[in-house]
Amino acid sequence: MARILTVGVATLDVVITVDGFPREDDKIRARGVTTRRGGNAANTAVVLSQLGHDTSWAGSISSDGNGDFVSRDLARAGVKTGNIAVQRDGALPVSYILNSVASESRTIIHHRDLPEFGFEDFRRLDLRRYDWLHFEGRNVAETGRMLSHYRGQHSALPCSLEVEKPREGIEELFELADVLLFSRQYARAKGFHEPGSMLAEIAPRAPRALLVCAWGEDGAWARTYEGEEFHSPAYGYGEVVDTIGAGDVLNAGVIHGLVNQQSLNRVLPFGCQLAGVKCAQQGLDDLLANYHRLVKTDKPPAA
Ligand code: ADP
Repeated sequence: MARILTVGVATLDVVITVDGFPREDDKIRARGVTTRRGGNAANTAVVLSQLGHDTSWAGSISSDGNGDFVSRDLARAGVKTGNIAVQRDGALPVSYILNSVASESRTIIHHRDLPEFGFEDFRRLDLRRYDWLHFEGRNVAETGRMLSHYRGQHSALPCSLEVEKPREGIEELFELADVLLFSRQYARAKGFHEPGSMLAEIAPRAPRALLVCAWGEDGAWARTYEGEEFHSPAYGYGEVVDTIGAGDVLNAGVIHGLVNQQSLNRVLPFGCQLAGVKCAQQGLDDLLANYHRLVKTDKPPAA
């Protein structure tokens, strides 16, 4: 069991499941509507907690009912919430997500109006209490200050950085992390049609880092700083009902394996299996129980 801190965003996700994506100006019926907590770093924390780690989430929430909903949901999932910055002004970020069953896609309209969890909040944390830090790669200037500060004070503490979207200057953070977790969205935005060539091109910018890239139904790729490459296929477990947060689950699986010093030959398939199980269920509740039920081959490495 490791003590893991994730830093990033928590949101309220309003998930509208539809048979197929509507045309503009259409009026269609939803299959179902659910409201749940989301946010990449918060999702990753919830899964790490299920995997048996002593997990904390640090980020901003609003002081209204939506903020309470998020902190109660995280606590229910076993995630420690003592590092949360409660903001007096602003509202919790909301993601309106159109989840199309026909195309297995999720289209997201995000609204945010909440002061960020910034460097001054981060500086108050006692980082000696953790064995692993995980950052969401957003708010580049503040995240850069956090990473530099922590590198200066606790250089031996391993850290992963999620790079989901192209953001100005984010490449400057690459050399500060031990593990970079890229998305297909980032790769495509940078003009790559497959992950291997992107990871090879990024390698010189992050000479100490393990590079990982998720690629939806094609699985995930990794490249060590020595240039060794790994690939795992995606794993399907029946109908794909909800891919929201699949990347966050993969990231949790990868962090779990690395914390336990597993080889990438095990880490990557485990992350993809866990993400595949997630795609076959709504939300994140009972993910590990469903993993044990659906994946008969191997139990996850002990936390
Ligand atoms: P994100 O959720 O960030 O868009 P991806 O779509 O790349 O991330 O998915 C992350 C991981 O989830 C993939 O590496 C894969 O293992 C798994 N996954 C995604 N889509 C599917 C699918 N349709 N079937 C099975 N596994 C999937």
